[in-house]
Amino acid sequence: MPALNARSTADIQASDAAHHWHPFTDSADLAATGTRVIRSAQGCWLTGNDGERLLDGMAGLWCVNVGYGREEIVEAVARQMRELPYYNTFFQCTHPSATEFAEALTEVAPPHMNRVFFTNSGSESNDTVFRLARVYWDCMGQASKKMFVARRNAYHGSTVVGASLGGMGAMHAQSGLPIEGIRHIGQPYWFGEGRDMDEAEFGLIRARELEAAIDEIGADRIAAFIAEPIQGAGGVIIPPATYWPEIARVCRERDILLITDEVICGFGRTGSWFGAEHFGVQADLSPIAKGMTSGYIPMGGVLISDRVAGPVMEKAGEFYHGYTYSGHPAACAAGIANLRILREEKLVERVRDDIGPYLKSRWMTLADHPLVGQARMLGLLGALEIVADKRTMARFPGGAGARCRDLCVRNGLVMRAVGDTMIVSPPLILSYEEAEELVVRARKSLDDLADAMTREGWRGAA
Ligand code: PMP
Repeated sequence: MPALNARSTADIQASDAAHHWHPFTDSADLAATGTRVIRSAQGCWLTGNDGERLLDGMAGLWCVNVGYGREEIVEAVARQMRELPYYNTFFQCTHPSATEFAEALTEVAPPHMNRVFFTNSGSESNDTVFRLARVYWDCMGQASKKMFVARRNAYHGSTVVGASLGGMGAMHAQSGLPIEGIRHIGQPYWFGEGRDMDEAEFGLIRARELEAAIDEIGADRIAAFIAEPIQGAGGVIIPPATYWPEIARVCRERDILLITDEVICGFGRTGSWFGAEHFGVQADLSPIAKGMTSGYIPMGGVLISDRVAGPVMEKAGEFYHGYTYSGHPAACAAGIANLRILREEKLVERVRDDIGPYLKSRWMTLADHPLVGQARMLGLLGALEIVADKRTMARFPGGAGARCRDLCVRNGLVMRAVGDTMIVSPPLILSYEEAEELVVRARKSLDDLADAMTREGWRGAA
């Protein structure tokens, strides 16, 4: 296929450095090193501007669940755009795609969630739940319930509310966040913060921080607890099995809403349709995005339980909230086609019963590597903890994760670094051969890192 854009890599990099301000990027640093230019993609593979091929271990940004190059989605979007490229869903209007997608989403959602509010991103979805949860308690005659409890090292997006609900210290420090009314509690990160303890016990202790926060603040002042079923951007933190049931108990007993942010975990990533289902809990509200359209068109939404929808619909009157592009026809068309693929190809079941267990069995072999302190995987979400010393689990002085990520790229694999935690989240269509390839390339990159660290004197010669 001829390249859509025939400019040279150096030319694109120079233009990009002059005019394009990138998200979550040190712009001066990027201008010095140059961007990586991705030209095209097919299946699980990216092609760079100079023809280099990379196995996409991150499904873009955790979103291309059905893989790249799905003609069914492209065709559905093109058809929709010819027929109705845009119309809004305000003012008593809808269009067939928004209706059909909402219905299809509630078919795959847990049975108690029968409505969806459309947004354009995960961040907007979290702004939406922030407002909707407060409106719900107003409708319940408990207007004092306004606060949110969230977690340190959570990621809920980059808008003011999203970043405030999130627990990323650097994001908060940069712009005077969080906003008022949010309390952050500890995260269930056993490897990083609880290794001296039994894992199950640690899960309970961290869940009971929610109970303690509610008791201190007063349940009459708290609207909701929000958390990702598995923290993604925080480093694929898979909570101990004891954690979620205890969280659900506390929310139930103290009568606060439970919001599971399914932006990453939704649409099959864990081997269930939604992460809450995997952990056996029922959420009252669930922000969604990413795998909702597999990233082909930007879209997000909120799944709304009957518990919340009932009183709000009955008593709130107009909900003064929405976006020009809520339920955008092209995004809905992409989403409908995407859901059809997920269902017809049984990709969720495939993650649960087939490729998930297979990749995990291969991934866990990396635990024997001298630089790996822990390997973990659930569904198609995996992490490796890079350590300098496996006995003490001491980390390298700095930058080992970023170096490992760069070595991965050199070895033809996209794997992301969160500090010294390496993470993967490949497309759900990953084949057995690609799973094997992913692990081989990850091991080679770890070997290369170990050699470099030995050469530089950060670890003893093997
Ligand atoms: N919530 C979670 C759990 C996420 O991982 C993300 C994005 N990585 C968001 C919200 C924000 O989504 P967006 O970037 O689409 O605004």
